[in-house]
Amino acid sequence: MGKPRYFCERCGAEVRRNARVCPHCGRFFSSVRCPRCGFTGAAEDFRSGCPACGYADAANADPEPLRGSGSPLPPLPLWIYVLALFALGLALALLISALR
Ligand SMILES: [Zn+2]
Ligand SMILES: [Zn+2]
Repeated sequence: MGKPRYFCERCGAEVRRNARVCPHCGRFFSSVRCPRCGFTGAAEDFRSGCPACGYADAANADPEPLRGSGSPLPPLPLWIYVLALFALGLALALLISALR
């Protein structure tokens, strides 16, 4: 209860507080969020730093990184690609010999 809600300025759909892009219409929001105090405002307000606390790098800061996704999956080993390529070639060879 009491959570502030944010709506897309173009299509009116409700969006996440720190969303950079509207998931409904693709509108790119120009609002900037101060990483120090959390103040959110138009990018123009941040030209000379955060208007609330004076934090200077707010306009260049990235939004909060997503957490809780765990470590990224390790890349597949090369032999899997070799095996897949071999299986594909074998299937192709069988198909060609069957058509003859
Ligand atoms: Zn929208
Ligand atoms: Zn601030």
